[in-house]
Amino acid sequence: MANQTQKTIIVTGASSGIGQGIAIAFGRQGANVVVNYHGDEEGAQSTLDQLIAAGGQGFIHQADVSKEEEVKALFARTKQKYQTLDVLINNAGIQKDSSFANMSLDEWNKVISTNLTGHFLCAREAIQEFEYKNASGAKGVAIGNIIFISSVHDLIPWAGHVNYASSKGGLLMLMKSLALEVAPKKIRVNAISPGAIATDINEEVWSDEESRKKLIELIPYQRIGEPEDVAKVAVWLAGEDSDYITGTTIYVDGGMTLYPGFVDNG
Ligand code: NDP
Repeated sequence: MANQTQKTIIVTGASSGIGQGIAIAFGRQGANVVVNYHGDEEGAQSTLDQLIAAGGQGFIHQADVSKEEEVKALFARTKQKYQTLDVLINNAGIQKDSSFANMSLDEWNKVISTNLTGHFLCAREAIQEFEYKNASGAKGVAIGNIIFISSVHDLIPWAGHVNYASSKGGLLMLMKSLALEVAPKKIRVNAISPGAIATDINEEVWSDEESRKKLIELIPYQRIGEPEDVAKVAVWLAGEDSDYITGTTIYVDGGMTLYPGFVDNG
């Protein structure tokens, strides 16, 4: 695997779960990792401690990804400290579940503004920096990488979660259209769509015996994923070994997108 030494990476929503796992995995590669968080400073500090212990360096930075000025400040501080940016992991995300008829505008707006608009705002800052780097005539491998942490619900409809599924479906076209636009500038844009990964976002599902059993029925590979399953793919997808891949989604889902109901002849 290509080494990420000296590379500078921003991971949004890195105070827990998948973002934390990804930040630590880049730490193991010796990278500079900016640990963004929203409310959980303690979680962010724990991520930073772990990634430093693993061989990396970095800092924590509070920012709401749905707020333009806060996103600008996150990128400006990163540039000030490390001069440039190599990889953006757009990971921050939330759920606000409700039946459709009862979904409030606030529940709709919060999810879209974090999961979709927030990813747009961060990606735009990253692209501006990568285009600036490209202006000096970059040759060889990509000069910048963006990875969206999306979801299997960019493909699988999800009743009771229309706001969440819409945000992830939107990310699919954001990722692909952006990948097309910036490929000639040697900027790569991809997504990782996890299936069920045990984190805070879905704790009520995996921590309860009965719902855990029901969930496993949706996973042909018969196990719930861990943040590390996603983190390993993110490191590879941001590295030079995957340099010819852009505009693609990698489903890290134990086969959840394979129509599990057909596993025994339908
Ligand atoms: P967690 O709840 O563990 O982590 C969510 C992270 O997002 C936290 O660090 C949280 O920060 C951060 N966050 C939330 N809102 C904001 C905001 N406005 N600005 C900045 N950061 C914010 O969940 P996961 O690790 O599971 O989720 C990470 C991503 O993976 C999400 O995009 C989710 O949709 C996606 N995903 C997860 C799956 C799973 O099974 N776990 C499956 C498919 C996709 P803080 O706590 O500091 O407020």
